[in-house]
Amino acid sequence: MARKSARKVAMCMLAHPDDCEFQVAGTLALLAKKGWEVHIVSATPGDCGSMELGPVAIAAKRREENVASGKVIGAHYHCLELRDLYVTFDHDAIRRAISVARHIGPSLVFTHSLQDYMLDHEVTAQLARTATIGSFVPNTCGGPIVPGVGMPHLYYADPAGMLDYFGDRPVATTYVDVSSKIGVKEKMLRCHASQREWLMAHYGIDEYTRLLREGGALRGAEIGVKFAEGFRQHKGQGYPKECILKQELGGLVVNR
Ligand SMILES: [Zn+2]
Repeated sequence: MARKSARKVAMCMLAHPDDCEFQVAGTLALLAKKGWEVHIVSATPGDCGSMELGPVAIAAKRREENVASGKVIGAHYHCLELRDLYVTFDHDAIRRAISVARHIGPSLVFTHSLQDYMLDHEVTAQLARTATIGSFVPNTCGGPIVPGVGMPHLYYADPAGMLDYFGDRPVATTYVDVSSKIGVKEKMLRCHASQREWLMAHYGIDEYTRLLREGGALRGAEIGVKFAEGFRQHKGQGYPKECILKQELGGLVVNR
């Protein structure tokens, strides 16, 4: 039972603090510019993201980095406070995902590809998918429901590294030309200094930014622009079928 909503609230729910920048941030930046309220949710605070700092110290640092990254596009940051490599589809995690989504009341949700390089990503996609329904169904958990919230549009982003786990590039059905926002994506990514520095030390080059550009260029080439983000829309029963991205971003969006 899809309900038409005039709400313009976008939420991305992804596993780790820097996943958004690679796969969704350009589209979020375009939506923010169009007046959308934007929320970035990570399932974990990235507590395994350091070879030197312990989990509490690196998590504290990475929460701050994510807040700073969100601020670049005026987005709000939330964390489900699950733990790296332990993102599990269980009662506690589902309740956390629904509670955050219920508080935000999104009309548009982005999450990971259903097939991705690690299970934190795939399980977070399941949590986000469950939260799309739980955000407006009264008996799923406590807390008020934001008035006017119904089933949101749901899009799956590209997998990390642009590959499924058989080494193939998955099909995208919705492309967003983010060429004008590649600088914004990089600025957001640079906020995650702890990860960038680690990769710089490891690879000797700015591997972080290179990967971001490489993924965007791959999708961009498929539609004849410099940089794009690719998505697949969830069109199962009850979900809105029309492409809200096309409606909002017009000529920047290609559907196939
Ligand atoms: Zn990740």
